Amino acid sequence: MKRVGFVGWRGMVGSALMERMAAEGGFEGIEPVFFSTSSPGSPGPGLGGASDPLRDAYDLEELASLDALVSCQGGTYTGRVHGPLRASGWKGFWIDASSKLRMEPDAVIVLDPVNRRAIDRGLAEGALDLVGGNCTVSLMLLGLAGLFEAGLVEWVSSMTYQAASGAGARCMRELLLQMGALRDAAGPALEDPAGAMLDIDRSVTAAQRSPAFPAEAFAAPLAGSLIPWIDEPVGEGRTREEWKGFAEANKILATEEPIPVDGICVRVGAMRCHSQALVVKLKRDLPLADCEALIASHNPWARVVPNEKESTLGRLSPAAVSGGLEVPVGRLHKMRMGGEYLAAFTCGDQLLWGAAEPIRRALEIALGRL
Ligand code: NAP
Repeated sequence: MKRVGFVGWRGMVGSALMERMAAEGGFEGIEPVFFSTSSPGSPGPGLGGASDPLRDAYDLEELASLDALVSCQGGTYTGRVHGPLRASGWKGFWIDASSKLRMEPDAVIVLDPVNRRAIDRGLAEGALDLVGGNCTVSLMLLGLAGLFEAGLVEWVSSMTYQAASGAGARCMRELLLQMGALRDAAGPALEDPAGAMLDIDRSVTAAQRSPAFPAEAFAAPLAGSLIPWIDEPVGEGRTREEWKGFAEANKILATEEPIPVDGICVRVGAMRCHSQALVVKLKRDLPLADCEALIASHNPWARVVPNEKESTLGRLSPAAVSGGLEVPVGRLHKMRMGGEYLAAFTCGDQLLWGAAEPIRRALEIALGRL
């Protein structure tokens, strides 16, 4: 039976992965081994029949006994352990949710409904590092895969509306604290439907600008506002999150001629679902119905939402999508710029297809079960 180690299993991405593995019978037929970076020796989660205490995630000898290691622990852990473990001669699969190894030439970015051929090619060539892609990139590719696969995409502009969860659990908590602080600032005046809205607005704005507003994690108000900057600057006016759109999408798609993907990444007050407003420049003026058919038929998760109000409000929002695997694509219409310009809006759970699900499936592929 294959021994599979899990590091980072109690974090947000790790917890989503544990839930999905349990739901899909992923612990059957493997010997799971649970690790900790902070409290080795403590009781384990008891998943998949494992009853042992947590092992030390920095113990290279222990790690080297595994057939595969799944890490949702983060880039710092990967940076510290992956190199020495490989240098020791370990030939197991390293399956990682962090971005640390993504652009390494030997690493394959996994999003199998979109790039199964590239994954299989990598495995045939001996690739052992399988890495999940950036959440926004994975969700965009899953939604639009039908258009990419048909070779129809000349370029994509992606303007994102990214959830707090992408910045970690602390930021999700802070978003809710900010929402509560805004409600408190509005005070009893909010109960009175005849109350002066501009007075309430002044109180809310004053609260957002107050040094007492809870904004340590985001360094800015997010509730009742937005933050048009995610991650570090990388030059040419872009942030790292924006740079990933082009770099990772093309690596995942294994394009010979890189497809320009660019846009502005914005943090909004959603909990765990990223949305994107997309402009797709098509290589030719394909009828809208054909574009919809390509999107809808590519994979079981991309769903075309009719471009009308009721369906959009009911099915195309973080509140509608949260906790599910569907990636709805809606607001599809041709733009005034010409028949080659397709507008779309998409939304997806960034902890599932944006993080845990490609990792879960990569393990299944590595085990030869998918
Ligand atoms: P996280 O929730 O902060 O968890 C990371 C680790 O923190 C845990 O595995 C745990 O390690 C430790 N930890 C300390 N206190 C904890 C507590 N009270 N509850 C749970 N864990 C605690 O990290 P994450 O957001 O899942 O992200 C993990 C990695 O996935 C990062 O590399 C991130 O870039 C990547 N990723 C994240 C997202 C996302 O949406 N957040 C999406 C894609 C990829 P020990 O058990 O060893 O102490």
